[in-house]
Amino acid sequence: MMWLAHLDRLPTRARTSTWGDQTLDKCCICNTYRETRDHLFLRCGYSEQIWLFVTKRLGYNQFLFHTWTAFMDWLELKDKVSSTTLRCLVVQATVYSIWWERNNRLHNSVSTPATVTCKKIDRLVRNAILARKEQKKFRNFMLL
Ligand SMILES: [Zn+2]
Repeated sequence: MMWLAHLDRLPTRARTSTWGDQTLDKCCICNTYRETRDHLFLRCGYSEQIWLFVTKRLGYNQFLFHTWTAFMDWLELKDKVSSTTLRCLVVQATVYSIWWERNNRLHNSVSTPATVTCKKIDRLVRNAILARKEQKKFRNFMLL
């Protein structure tokens, strides 16, 4: 799913509207802006709340991403705040959770508050770390 998002191949409304009804291009979450990949995952108010939580939990001063390129640059960055592996794990859980929320709103008309989605991301990451706790690379991640 992350790979499809990176390639901008997910069926966001900005893409699907070019295939049919061009009036249906508003974001499924905020229903205000055009639902492009960058809006949905980085700039939608809902996603921004989640990224503020996620960057803080990783140990950074809270910040937001304005472009997918900046987001990818941060993902590949080597710094002393968090490891690249942990950052990739968190980013994949976050992108998956935002896409899940978008689809749940679109197909089931059910919305989840951003605070609940943040807890879900935390749980997803903890479970992924626990499943790999025997691997040296993941040994200290739970502390981080
Ligand atoms: Zn939006």
